[in-house]
Amino acid sequence: MVRRNEIRPGEVAVEMPPATDAGLVFIGTIRTPWTDRLLCPRQGRLDGPVCRIELRETWAGGLSGLEGYERVEVLYWLDRSRRDLLLQSPRSDGTVRGVFSLRSPVRPNPIGTSLAALVGIEGSTVLVRGLDCLDGTPLIDLKPDRCAFTPLAPPQPGDFETGT
Ligand code: SAM
Repeated sequence: MVRRNEIRPGEVAVEMPPATDAGLVFIGTIRTPWTDRLLCPRQGRLDGPVCRIELRETWAGGLSGLEGYERVEVLYWLDRSRRDLLLQSPRSDGTVRGVFSLRSPVRPNPIGTSLAALVGIEGSTVLVRGLDCLDGTPLIDLKPDRCAFTPLAPPQPGDFETGT
């Protein structure tokens, strides 16, 4: 069931520790058709609507080479989520599970990830299908599809040995 910010029967909240500054910078904003969580998909679909990932101009040059990939991993900050629920009841039926066994947006650091289909790149804007976030969600990072990634060189003997 879609959550606004309520606590449901059986759920357990913790007192959030003070935030530390990890030096995170939002590199852009994601534009989607969804302004209400009730209408937002729980997970993106590759046949979903085209969404716009608008990078800040500073980072536009970092897109070079991305056009060669069919899929892009999108990392975003689920900024309208509460963060303190240790045990959660996704179905709101009294049964609970731990936050780290769920893909719920409610988590201590509300990072969302989606593997999206790359539709095109227009200047500093990346067009994709397959997102599930609200309009205006801040962008943390973009990465090429890890399955399609080719390492620069094959592993060499000794690469994985631990030093003393
Ligand atoms: N695909 C991501 C993942 O698995 O990490 C996110 C999955 S999460 C279940 C997606 C849900 O988060 C949406 O259905 C919506 O209810 C909620 N959501 C989307 N954008 C949000 C935002 N900016 N702030 C808070 N909640 C958001």
